[in-house]
Amino acid sequence: ANSHFAQSDVGQQGDFFDAVIVGAGFSGLYMLYKLRNQGLSVRLFEAGSDVGGTWYWNRYPGARCDVESVDYSYSFSEELQQEWSWQERYPAQPEILSYLRHVADRFDLRRDIVLDTKVTATTYDDSSNAWTVHPDNGVPVTSRFCIMATGCLSIPKTPDVPGLQNFRGKVYHTADWPEYEVSFAEERVGVIGTGSSGVQTIPVLAERARHLTVFQRTAAYSVPARNRPLDAETERAVKANYTERRRTARAMPAGLDVDPNPQSALEVDAEQREREYSRRWDRGGFVVLGAYSDLMTDQRANDTISEFIRNKIRDTVTDRETAEKLLPSGFPFGAKRPCYDTGYYETFNREDVTLVDLKQSPLETITPTGVQTSGEHHELDSIVLATGFDAMTGALSRIDILGRNGTALADKWTDGPRTYLGLGSEGFPNLFFLAGPGSPSVLTNMVTAIEQHVEWIARCIEHVRVNEYRSIEPTAEAEDQWVDHVNYVADQTLYPQANSWYLGANVPGKPRIFMPYPGGMNAYEDKCNEVAEQGYSGFALK
Ligand code: FAD
Repeated sequence: ANSHFAQSDVGQQGDFFDAVIVGAGFSGLYMLYKLRNQGLSVRLFEAGSDVGGTWYWNRYPGARCDVESVDYSYSFSEELQQEWSWQERYPAQPEILSYLRHVADRFDLRRDIVLDTKVTATTYDDSSNAWTVHPDNGVPVTSRFCIMATGCLSIPKTPDVPGLQNFRGKVYHTADWPEYEVSFAEERVGVIGTGSSGVQTIPVLAERARHLTVFQRTAAYSVPARNRPLDAETERAVKANYTERRRTARAMPAGLDVDPNPQSALEVDAEQREREYSRRWDRGGFVVLGAYSDLMTDQRANDTISEFIRNKIRDTVTDRETAEKLLPSGFPFGAKRPCYDTGYYETFNREDVTLVDLKQSPLETITPTGVQTSGEHHELDSIVLATGFDAMTGALSRIDILGRNGTALADKWTDGPRTYLGLGSEGFPNLFFLAGPGSPSVLTNMVTAIEQHVEWIARCIEHVRVNEYRSIEPTAEAEDQWVDHVNYVADQTLYPQANSWYLGANVPGKPRIFMPYPGGMNAYEDKCNEVAEQGYSGFALK
């Protein structure tokens, strides 16, 4: 491969590239596009059989994005955003996958992508300042930079329930769904898990199955998405004003315009609050979170929206006992990833849907023919696990990443991830993370966050090249300060009040650390820009 960087002293192992990228989702594809346009030689490895990342793997019925299609898409190419037409207000998985395939083809990205290849290890060589990247098939390659675009929600989590292997029916995981159509007709189906994926798939499975049993451990707060076809007029209006729309989104804490109201929920009376919440509930989606400025920082403010949602559930679900079980309690709305649904609560009014509250009757074991709870045995033909992910660090922890002096990232991160700006970690030169722990990532419209990261990293790599440095890595001091800052900001919010995957609480033994940066996309981007303008302050350049 051609290279920009001097490579005479790089130990040759297979090919040498300026950069290796791991992962071909939104992050990896744009990173590849950007670095190639800067003249770098790049190789991208992807474990899946096609590009798409999240939208390649999560093919479960009802899989859909919660951010509107016109916002959950790349802004870097004016031609792309003008020419692509979205079908629905919120795109379903097949549409996003088609979009990402189109992007890969349109920008001729596939020639640098190796599919069906998992990276198992990557090792930094101190003397040559290069990474040796080990794919699970084929020879290792060497590169100056290594960029982990491995995803925040890319390692499905299977529940530790005894007996799963004994089940004689079929078991599916929402995040590892087969490519063929699963009909479920005439089947008794059980769904375990009522987070975002469960809430999306339950109404669709209820339509398909003979009987659906929903096993719920923690009731979620779910807001109606209000999906609909994207009409031509809305599309025209968005496209006429796209640059401005994107600029507004990127300057918002969530990387998305949630129509933020600067008022406190506590400075208005109950009637006024009810009107504001109802107005946003009817619009659907993320705008509910923008209703008042203190919903995520003041428990009393949050109580008002949480109770509003519980009342909506009481109004929707006709059977009182079922409604009671569906009421979320014990944690603030928004402290776990909010769910956005199409007919979720209404589904429990169907005769052929049963809700099992695992708090009341805990799951004891999976038997060959169903699920045994403390109260009852539920006969099933198929089980759908909607049990989420080993989030944010799961994919990184499954790669043996060895940095300077052979230090393992896994050892450094035993007590939780440590990064500077979520972009890199001290001791791991020339290694970057996209949407890494310590960046706003999952608290934002992720495509906005990803574009910002990619652009920042591309500029940083250009800085290293032009100035003929051989390596860049965060200083220990800057990293410590950033970790403290992320924790400090998290402690000002209600996020730590829930046992969420943001905190790693869904994975037994995972250290309890708030992983995403909750200070907002806008504040984060300002900080990143300041760092770059100061010649990459907080990074050591050699
Ligand atoms: P991914 O899309 O996860 O891609 C990472 C890729 O890396 C994967 O293809 C994986 O196979 C590959 N990989 C990982 N490890 C290795 C390895 N060792 N070797 C080779 N390849 C590897 N975000 C939003 O902003 N709004 C939403 O509404 C939203 N909805 C979502 C719904 C679901 C069901 C899920 C799962 C996620 C959702 N997300 C949403 C988050 C979503 O993950 C991001 O928006 C975005 O797709 C992330 O892109 P990415 O490229 O960073 O990671």
